[in-house]
Amino acid sequence: MNRRSFAQSLGGAVAVSALGRSSFSKESSSDGTPGRIMAIAAHPGDGLFTMGAVLAHQIERRGSGVLLSLSLGEKGAPKDIQVEHYGEMQRTATQKATQLLGAEAVFLAYPDAQIPFNEESALAVCDAIRQYKPDVVVTHWSGSWHKDHQNCHLIVRDAVFYAALETLARSSPAHSVSKIYYAENWEDASNFVPDTYLDIEAVYEKWLQACDFYPMWRGQTGFFRYNDYYSALSIMRGCLSGFKHAVALMSDPGQRMDRPRLL
Ligand SMILES: [Zn+2]
Repeated sequence: MNRRSFAQSLGGAVAVSALGRSSFSKESSSDGTPGRIMAIAAHPGDGLFTMGAVLAHQIERRGSGVLLSLSLGEKGAPKDIQVEHYGEMQRTATQKATQLLGAEAVFLAYPDAQIPFNEESALAVCDAIRQYKPDVVVTHWSGSWHKDHQNCHLIVRDAVFYAALETLARSSPAHSVSKIYYAENWEDASNFVPDTYLDIEAVYEKWLQACDFYPMWRGQTGFFRYNDYYSALSIMRGCLSGFKHAVALMSDPGQRMDRPRLL
């Protein structure tokens, strides 16, 4: 094994140019065209910074993408901006960013920092999954210090289960999501072990432009250098996967299955 193949085999990971090809056949629609990806984030910034390139990539391939934000992230407001006003700024930034990427933006109105994990929230996300019928869902990994991110992870797991349950009557019929991936987020880093590297080169500049609609990305709301972190992360993940820029994803441990043809 040389250094290149070592890098590309880190942790048993696979480097892919696209979700929905070769070994990921279920992530395409049944007719073989690229399917729909739904990103589900606690806060809109998480959605764009950690999942936006995945949406953009799928749309570039003539698939489709929708971003569901559970809150507006309004309590991240800097001292000189009212919380309500900041929430609307976040909504506007998200609408502009998703429009640039060609994705849809959907919001649930849970209060930032107080997103509840309960039956009501799980069913609300279930209803969104049944309405938008994604083939793939991307969301937060559980290893987060942030309670909203932890709750989003738990909500989505229950929502995907509920969405597929034929005997659970809701306003829309049941829908099965083929695969869940977890996004790489600086706040969700505990035990995050990626196994899929996605080549985002074709959409890299567009994704950066979309992120730039957020004051947070530009360092105007706090100390953390989001722009530097996530652009550098895409380079680092690219180094490990043989792409110029890449996004690393972690598949759900319960959904990992290798079926080598040699056996
Ligand atoms: Zn967040």
